[in-house]
Amino acid sequence: MEYIVSARKYRPLSFDTVVGQAALTTTLKNAVKSGKLAHAYLFCGPRGVGKTTCARIFAKAINCQHPTAEGEACNECESCQSFNEQRSLNIFELDAASNNSVEHIKTLMEQTRIPPQLGRYKVFIIDEVHMLSTAAFNAFLKTLEEPPAHVIFILATTEKHKILPTILSRCQIYDFERMTIRNTIDHLKHVAEQEGITYEEQALAVIAEKADGGMRDALSIFDQAASFCQGNITYEKVIEDLNVLDSENYFKIIDLAIDNKVSDIMVLLNGVINKGFDGGLLIQGLAKHVRNVLMARDPQTLPLLEVSDQMRARYEEQAKKCQITFLYDALKLMNQCDINYRQSSNKRLLVELTLIEIAQITQPAEDGASAGRKPRRLKSLFKNMIQQQKPKNAAPQVAAAKVAVSAAAAVTAEATGETQTAGSTVSEANTTSKPKLSLGGIGFSWKKLRQQDNGPQKGGMQIIPGSINMPTGQDTITDAQFTQTDLEFQWMAMCNRMPQKLSGIATRMKNMNPEITEFPTVEVVVDNELIKQEIEDIQKSIAKTLQIYLHNDQIQITVRVAEQTEHVKILSRREQFEQMAEKNAAVAKLQQAFDLELA
Ligand SMILES: [Zn+2]
Repeated sequence: MEYIVSARKYRPLSFDTVVGQAALTTTLKNAVKSGKLAHAYLFCGPRGVGKTTCARIFAKAINCQHPTAEGEACNECESCQSFNEQRSLNIFELDAASNNSVEHIKTLMEQTRIPPQLGRYKVFIIDEVHMLSTAAFNAFLKTLEEPPAHVIFILATTEKHKILPTILSRCQIYDFERMTIRNTIDHLKHVAEQEGITYEEQALAVIAEKADGGMRDALSIFDQAASFCQGNITYEKVIEDLNVLDSENYFKIIDLAIDNKVSDIMVLLNGVINKGFDGGLLIQGLAKHVRNVLMARDPQTLPLLEVSDQMRARYEEQAKKCQITFLYDALKLMNQCDINYRQSSNKRLLVELTLIEIAQITQPAEDGASAGRKPRRLKSLFKNMIQQQKPKNAAPQVAAAKVAVSAAAAVTAEATGETQTAGSTVSEANTTSKPKLSLGGIGFSWKKLRQQDNGPQKGGMQIIPGSINMPTGQDTITDAQFTQTDLEFQWMAMCNRMPQKLSGIATRMKNMNPEITEFPTVEVVVDNELIKQEIEDIQKSIAKTLQIYLHNDQIQITVRVAEQTEHVKILSRREQFEQMAEKNAAVAKLQQAFDLELA
């Protein structure tokens, strides 16, 4: 028995069996029904989507002696049979990709002069028409400008932009769409069932994806897989045969990344690379995967996923586990990796770093910043360096103490695997009368403070390594006096130190005027309930910070919403002046006396 490739065996013979081009085939059927035909058609679209097939079906239909009411060929009349048996004299095909000389075209154009003996039209199909040489093009153009009544040209191209306007303007243009994965899978299923081949849908999805929108390619890969799998197409065999990376890897990496399991990801990456896969391709595939997970988060974008139903369910499931910020950040990191990949001299390291960073996106940050992007160990090193640089004007014994702090912090970091937050500034503050703060100075962990708020408190100052490890407890001033100016200074410094995550509220706080109401109680007046809530969420942290920096652990923070009249108005310069003048008559007098005007 002769083996016929599926692409040929299952080539559609009617418009209705053409896959994935419904709108276009309907228009062509209508043309057949109405008999209103153009002299030239241009079929554009990617390879393997059915351009030539449709051209042949169209040629058959317009020559059919008894077309159906739907505009399909009857497949029974003499003309149809000659077409189906490929002995029709009314169809000419030229592949311009291989026959693009002027002689080829001239020979073909001679055929246009002779009217058909059977049927009404001679159909000339010129495939890859953009490949014709200039001379051939000109020879063709002559006929196209004044075609005989019985001639119909169907030009096909994958590169519409290369077609000259003189041709475009003489053609009815049809744009073929690339096959969707869904369409391809369905068609492959149909073929498999006809052939008695068993399959896993996921395997067909891999084939469809590999074919990238071309049905002819899909069918050819299908044939290859069917023979490789000996009639039972399984996912496992297909990915092996096609050298496709198992998408299971992507699901695993994301699952591990959510759990911050860096080492497991490194082991997985090693396995993938050992199988001969390129790390860069892994990142590209993972980016595609994350994009799919992102799409799966929203019911609106879920249908955009071009995957099998089974996979869609899996994406949906993973999407439920992923924060949207995690997905965005991961995409950004992978995009950066992709950009740098080609120039990188150590590609594997780049891939590893990218995966490490992705695995740390959701890692609770130890300094309270929202995203633990940097490896923890790097962070702790960095902090220790800052701690050592910190004291410019501290007393010698303080400097000595600080080394101890750094060492202690480093030891603790080693032991617990956690970075100690930098708090040495405070310890240092404890021994000097007034801490000198640089605004860029590092604060302590808001996050930990908040965790402490929730959990049982012991000593209340664990966040500061020095308070545990250094003998500062005895001489720490805990009820120091401070002025409104001190308060405002420390308030502003605190706002500047607040982590990025809290930058919104930090900006608002800078515009607030904390006041000492009944020493040492500090009152914060806010504009509305919402802001009050936000402040209250971090109220304890604020209090602790002020207690430490103002050396008074009695400090309490109260928050209240401003009365209507209290709202701080944003005053224009004139209003400011008028207010001043109102409060102080001398100001008004001054203005009158010198006849001043506001600049
Ligand atoms: Zn017919």
